[in-house]
Amino acid sequence: MRKRSIATNDPHIQALARIVGERAILYRKEDLMAYDCDGFTVHRHLPKAVVFPTSTEQVAAVVRYCHEHDLPFLARGAGTGLSGGAIPLNGEVVISLTRMKRLLHVDLENRRAVVEPGFVNLKLTNSVAHRGYYYAPDPSSQYCCTIGGNVAENAGGAHCLKYGVTTNHILGLEVVLPNGEVIEIGGNGVPDPPGYDLLGLLTGSEGTLGIVTKITVRLLKNPEAKQTVLAYFDEVEDASQTVSDIISAGIVPAALEMMDQTAIEAVEAAAFPVGHPKDIAALLLIEVDGISAGIDEQIDDILAICRRHHVREVKVAQSEEERARWWANRKTGFGAMGAISPDYLVQDGVIPRSRLPEVLREIANISRKYGLRIANIFHAGDGNLHPLVLFDASKPGETERALAAGSECLKACAAVGGSITGEHGVGIEKKEEMRFIFTDEEILAQTAIRDVFNPKNLLNAGKLFPTPGRCVETKMPSTVK
Ligand SMILES: Cc1cc2nc3c(=O)[nH]c(=O)nc-3n(C[C@H](O)[C@H](O)[C@H](O)COP(=O)(O)OP(=O)(O)OC[C@H]3O[C@@H](n4cnc5c(N)ncnc54)[C@H](O)[C@@H]3O)c2cc1C
Repeated sequence: MRKRSIATNDPHIQALARIVGERAILYRKEDLMAYDCDGFTVHRHLPKAVVFPTSTEQVAAVVRYCHEHDLPFLARGAGTGLSGGAIPLNGEVVISLTRMKRLLHVDLENRRAVVEPGFVNLKLTNSVAHRGYYYAPDPSSQYCCTIGGNVAENAGGAHCLKYGVTTNHILGLEVVLPNGEVIEIGGNGVPDPPGYDLLGLLTGSEGTLGIVTKITVRLLKNPEAKQTVLAYFDEVEDASQTVSDIISAGIVPAALEMMDQTAIEAVEAAAFPVGHPKDIAALLLIEVDGISAGIDEQIDDILAICRRHHVREVKVAQSEEERARWWANRKTGFGAMGAISPDYLVQDGVIPRSRLPEVLREIANISRKYGLRIANIFHAGDGNLHPLVLFDASKPGETERALAAGSECLKACAAVGGSITGEHGVGIEKKEEMRFIFTDEEILAQTAIRDVFNPKNLLNAGKLFPTPGRCVETKMPSTVK
């Protein structure tokens, strides 16, 4: 094999290469371009370098070096984040965790597993499925996103309605702090550990408090039975009311997903069409699971509620193959937008379920106001909306219009007592929108916590909180914009 050598006099690149090895660092512009953004593609910035450590010791050594030399740095998993969390805004050293991808330990007796942060989400379920277990959080990107990235974003997924999001499935973390020290949090199964809930704090902190290098997760036993329903509606109001009535009837489906007409047009034009009628206003994909006894009754109740709300057609999956096709159609929904639009922006608002019809009406108004189509694919059961703003970045001004339309959608969610993010995080994308739901004092309380962990603010600076200098002051190092 040809031996590579570092072709730069930059002392920082040379020092980092000594830590991770010459074959585990990128520093040439043409290589760095692949790391200039994540799934939020409207901002692009080149990193200083990308390093690929293979152990906690290497991560800690890289972090210590950056800390001592005031180099901004950030962690990156698969780069599927939709809010710009892994974008190197300040020319960061990107610490890619993709080579730390081992399944370290499976303990079925205690229903847990230990993984490295670069382990891909779906691989975990695939690794234990033959023994009757699975890992519940199932973001639609689960075939490629990493569990480290899921922890940082507190990722959700279609089946999180019943089983809870990532934070409900994390039992322990090993974390490299921004000064290079390594700490362990939780992991020993104590239900109410003494001290602050650092596990809760770190999960969802969007890579601003530390770099996760090991994760202990909860595994669940496969449900005994599962049934899936597909329901087509001529009116969005009827579909929305069906969602509300299912939940208020005391049924907690494993998943309760909605797609509107524009979304259906996209998924039917993309890789996994299933023959949804294109003239319906909305569809619901509903799954119930649990012990076999009682499942049929729940399905009967769901069918009755659908009929009460004038469902045009409703069917129950007749085979595992049919169910899998329906889910593939739904789970590839974001990517399917590429079939009907050159670019799209995914939003991630949360609303009380009861306000669904009025917020969807408001989103339709926003779509008209900005002259941009907006598709809706979302976790209706927990009120987590994903308006997808379709645009063409090659047309002057359209990206800005799309961003403004997306922001207005979030304002509409906040206005009914909802939130600006349900699972994708704040990142760069929604940091100004934090003001829709938090006062200056509330934001300051959060940045104060960040400053305890990350006092030099070298780790993932410029994310999560509004730009300083207006009302809220946050510390920014001189190297950071
Ligand atoms: C098609 C598609 C569908 C999606 N569907 C869903 C969905 O259903 N639900 C959902 O919640 N999300 C979804 N997402 C968003 C995304 O997949 C998740 O946010 C995921 O958790 C990101 O994981 P990642 O490995 O790609 O992380 P990255 O994008 O690489 O990083 C995300 C953030 O985590 C930080 N980070 C990464 N690794 C670590 C680590 N080891 N330690 C500390 N910080 C770290 C980064 O600095 C960054 O801030 C979707 C994305 C796409 C493209």
